[in-house]
Amino acid sequence: MNIHEYQAKEILKNYGVAIQQGVVVESPEKATDAAKTLADQTGTGWFVVKAQIHAGGRGKGKVQETDSNGVVLAKSLEEVPEKVKNIIGGTLVTHQTGPQGKKVNKVLIAEDVYYPGESDPKEFYLSILLDRAKGCNVIMASTEGGMDIEEVAAATPEKIIKEWIDPGVGLQPFQARKVAFALGLEGKAMKEMVKFIFALYKAYESTDSSMFEINPVLKTSDDKILAVDAKVNLDENALYRHKDLAELRDITEEDPLEVEAGKNGLNYVKLDGNVGCMVNGAGLAMATMDIIKLSGGDPANFLDVGGGANAETVEAGFRIILKDPNVKAILINIFGGIVRCDRVASGVVEAYKNIGEINVPIIVRLQGTNAEEGAKIIEESGLQVTSAILLKDAAQKVKDVLS
Ligand code: GDP
Ligand code: MN
Repeated sequence: MNIHEYQAKEILKNYGVAIQQGVVVESPEKATDAAKTLADQTGTGWFVVKAQIHAGGRGKGKVQETDSNGVVLAKSLEEVPEKVKNIIGGTLVTHQTGPQGKKVNKVLIAEDVYYPGESDPKEFYLSILLDRAKGCNVIMASTEGGMDIEEVAAATPEKIIKEWIDPGVGLQPFQARKVAFALGLEGKAMKEMVKFIFALYKAYESTDSSMFEINPVLKTSDDKILAVDAKVNLDENALYRHKDLAELRDITEEDPLEVEAGKNGLNYVKLDGNVGCMVNGAGLAMATMDIIKLSGGDPANFLDVGGGANAETVEAGFRIILKDPNVKAILINIFGGIVRCDRVASGVVEAYKNIGEINVPIIVRLQGTNAEEGAKIIEESGLQVTSAILLKDAAQKVKDVLS
């Protein structure tokens, strides 16, 4: 599960990670008061106004309606409301949002931390994530922090330092020092960075996250180390033991069909193709998507209805698939193991009748317990549903309806 920058920074703060302080607002009217509060707390006179959306690249992104960037500097308290107004309520398009962009509902007003001093502020990249291939966490860092880290990783991968953490012994002090040293730090900044890495690792582990990405981490002109941006990915499967973190979910940032599917206990991921599919079991769903590809179609979604599929789940699945205007055909592929095929067939027929007019052809393949009985129910229903028992028949029928 993704969360907003301001929420991620709140988590960091709770674990003692130094952050760029800020106050979040939902309307421009609140901007001046928020900025004043922040100025009182931090002593800052300059502010950064930052769109809160679940996507990066905001600094270079553009708000369609006003042409403002998604992250802008306000060089006085008076400038803040106008800058907030240019971002809030608008549609921000960045290289991560796709051309349709994302609506901005909240804005973070943060203290400016790039103030001049004895040395220039310096941006670093730092992340902690799970390295699935190695089966352990990895810390990644780079001196080339800031807005173009993807290009750095692609063109000069040697500039990304990696330090793997043994899960048995955890993060060791020498490892944090090694990373800080590789970033070219010394003296106070070095010590601060080691502290920063330890606190960050603690936050990452304690929240059961799968990724923490801080880009940039800033070394200020007076050698403080601060998180200026924060992207946190929480492991959804661990949220049951983090009720407070589960509440950070912002469903306005998620695909509405995926939200609806979640409410019905379905695992649904929307894709760009033309053949909707409803399958029980993730493995079979993957195989079904392959079959659709081989038949010359493209899967419109991944949908796993789970082991206990019944009339209600089938109906919910149907409704979700049918809301996608790209869907030209639906392939239902159910293996009757725990659930009997005749029950699924009855569920399909019932759901079909409940929904009423369905204008796309439906191919149902039922295999396993009571497959023959299931096929019979489908065929005798009198509905525009074609039954197939073998996967290759199902594939052929998808091909037929698409041609
Ligand atoms: P992203 O573009 O979505 O990754 O958003 P970031 O939070 O990383 O901000 C984008 C850029 O804004 C950063 O890389 C900085 O260059 C700049 N920025 C962020 N905070 C400040 C600040 O306090 N002062 C100044 N001058 N620039 C800032
Ligand atoms: Mn960033």
